[in-house]
Amino acid sequence: MAMMRFSIAVAVCVLGLFTPQAPRVTAVRADRLLDVTSGVTRERMVVLIQGDRITAIGSADSVRVPQGAEEIRLANLTVLPGLIDAHVHLTLPGSPDSAAAADLRAGFTTVQDLGAVDTAVFALRRRLASGAVPGPRIAAAGLWIGISGGTCDFNGIGVRGAEAFRTRVREQVANGADVIKVCVTSWVAPAFREPERYEISDEEVNAAIVEAHRLHRKVVVHAISAGGVRAAVRMGADAVVHSAFVDDSTADLMRRRRVFIVPTLHSFEPRRGTAAMDSLFARMAVLTARGIPVAFGTDAGVFPHGENAKEFAALVRLGLTPLEAIRAATINGAELLGWSDRVGRLAPGMLADLVAVDGDPLADITALERVRFVMVGGRVVRL
Ligand SMILES: [Zn+2]
Repeated sequence: MAMMRFSIAVAVCVLGLFTPQAPRVTAVRADRLLDVTSGVTRERMVVLIQGDRITAIGSADSVRVPQGAEEIRLANLTVLPGLIDAHVHLTLPGSPDSAAAADLRAGFTTVQDLGAVDTAVFALRRRLASGAVPGPRIAAAGLWIGISGGTCDFNGIGVRGAEAFRTRVREQVANGADVIKVCVTSWVAPAFREPERYEISDEEVNAAIVEAHRLHRKVVVHAISAGGVRAAVRMGADAVVHSAFVDDSTADLMRRRRVFIVPTLHSFEPRRGTAAMDSLFARMAVLTARGIPVAFGTDAGVFPHGENAKEFAALVRLGLTPLEAIRAATINGAELLGWSDRVGRLAPGMLADLVAVDGDPLADITALERVRFVMVGGRVVRL
């Protein structure tokens, strides 16, 4: 045993000789830091980063900063984990690189791309992952999947029949999809007029969900009508995007099973004033008060990338506390993506994704629209 320990020690020394350079150490000194788990804001904190990970976090007195570490002092700002937008479209018309850069500069170090009419997002993800251009981490769906002639059918990409849905799921996963997006219903006005109506058959919804789960991918559904959400959730959907007319028993099921709703309120604001939209906002206020799990997502791409943080104020107007809105974009977003071991919290071992905002976001949620500092994977992309 002693000999084995000795050999390991020698091996480590020898490896050490051949390691070109230990990853750089950075100490971020924050006047204020919000712990999103406890909801406590602590003062005079230090986050120590080596390579792309956090190695230590604590008060300035308790964290030993090694000599030669690079220091970043964030005076008068509040530091929090990099934000997560669980519903964007990076490749809708416009430059995908600029879309990704705008989301990142706005503090969104992780985004979930929920589909497009092509699979260009996979090439973008590869480009960004190579590190040549800084960008947010991307979880991507590839082609969204919906019925021929339905909500998501553009350029004839819709499919029909359970087998076609299964095949389309398999194709996306083979292309590199992290998540599957299925379009179950139409938009708000039809869902208000006909609460039980949805546009794909139970067999098709079920086929897509079973196949995605078999391939260890979550399924996010576009579902707004009460009947559409009920069917998708009963069949195992993992999240519902957009606000929806969820009935009470489905909402309770979603709470028990941690099925997130991703409200995209900011994208709906311009259409307030119709009976359908006002009724939807009123229903969402009831659902969130009832404890339906909320993850932050915006549908950016439908409105300009970079405005994502406006969703925070919309969530607070709906009735969430500022802390609940921030958790929606950190710990809840990470849980929805299945990335809780990497992002959404600041702790040793987590990826060094940090933002700093001007003001106290717990007192004024619009502070999140004033991002002054962004770090992704230990790399400063905005200062
Ligand atoms: Zn969308």
